[in-house]
Amino acid sequence: MSQPRLLYANRYGDIVEHPRLLAAGRAGQLITDVEPEEWVPLPDGATLAWLPGTRPIGVDPRTGEMTALGDGCYAVGALLPQGYTRLLLPGYVRRKEEDVTLPLFGYTAVGWHRGRIMVAAHRTDDPAPWNPALVREVDVEQAVRRMLASHPGNRVFEHLSHCALTYGCMTAKNTFLGRYEGALPVSAACNAGCVGCISEQPEDAPFPSPQTRLTFRPTVDEMVDVMLTHIRSHPDAIISFGQGCEGEPSMRWPDIARAIRRVREETAEGYININTNAGLTRGIQAIVDAGLDLMRVSIISAIPEHYNAYYRPRGYTLDDVAASLRYAADHGVYTSINYLVFPGVTDREEEVEAMAEFLRRTGVRLVQMRNLNIDPDYYLARIPPQRGELIGMRGVMEALRSEVPGLEIGSYTHVPPAPLARRRGSL
Ligand code: SF4
Repeated sequence: MSQPRLLYANRYGDIVEHPRLLAAGRAGQLITDVEPEEWVPLPDGATLAWLPGTRPIGVDPRTGEMTALGDGCYAVGALLPQGYTRLLLPGYVRRKEEDVTLPLFGYTAVGWHRGRIMVAAHRTDDPAPWNPALVREVDVEQAVRRMLASHPGNRVFEHLSHCALTYGCMTAKNTFLGRYEGALPVSAACNAGCVGCISEQPEDAPFPSPQTRLTFRPTVDEMVDVMLTHIRSHPDAIISFGQGCEGEPSMRWPDIARAIRRVREETAEGYININTNAGLTRGIQAIVDAGLDLMRVSIISAIPEHYNAYYRPRGYTLDDVAASLRYAADHGVYTSINYLVFPGVTDREEEVEAMAEFLRRTGVRLVQMRNLNIDPDYYLARIPPQRGELIGMRGVMEALRSEVPGLEIGSYTHVPPAPLARRRGSL
């Protein structure tokens, strides 16, 4: 395949194909060519964004030289749907004269090829279950009305109706439609201060948090009502604590443990999952002992200096996170990581070696590749400098698969392979 042409935006935000230059990508601070096999057509459910404060870079097809465009030209990036791992950032440098910090999105390199928009991405999982284009808004609205009418006074359903209808959150929509993975946010508090937190940003942050945290404490009764409703909606239903509209769920471990025990007294159906930073090990242990089925731990690096620079943990360390994962795995929970990935950082040799060792040590079964949503320069300025060789994002997935026996790689939470199903019977 010949290389796609550079796409850029003019000062009016119109997206334009460059008549001569080819598209470039970026890994960390490095502007680089994009390998032909790294391009795929823009997937369904993806969107395009123009990047203010940037100067796009293209490749001269005759000389291979990198060329920056002039004034009034801005970079363009794609925002990918679930199921796709970003391989490269858009090729651009910052405009020194414009002090702009981009909002919390996962910007991906784009190009134009034979009438189609291409992106530097890898299909890592089946995108269909999370494709917003496959869910009709009218169905969501009707389902919300029915659920609120049949669960009067349950504040969690009221809160999620806002998430489903205003934010367009797919997990919230699932909770009303009774499909796949449903949402159960329970905690406004958090024991970390992530640089790119999507539910809370400090007053002086140069970008807003895309969501706001819930402002009430769901009761155990409200939790049990949401859990039973979703778990009984279909055989493979997953109900998940830990959503984008809350802090750290395990801060409420006593109530979560009570809710899980009450649900498991009623039914062995479905799967109970928690999305967590897993820093509060004794809380996680209590939740596991209560009957948890799945656990997904958010992590950006297995190198403590990098982890601490991003998560800014309060009162826990990466070793506590590892201890929580090990405990859950040893007690039959199907564990995964929500791996916040970023080209030019995640694919450094030292990061891959550390992560492979971390996964072997903790018994994690599934790595969910999650494109980190943040302004690249803002993030790079806040983490330790990167050293080792770059092996590319596809190289990361190949290396982890080969160095961690039995490891699955995907993009979102799946029901566990059959053998794990036995666990619930033993409670
Ligand atoms: S762990 Fe989650 S809620 Fe807490 S600061 Fe990080 S992103 Fe935000």
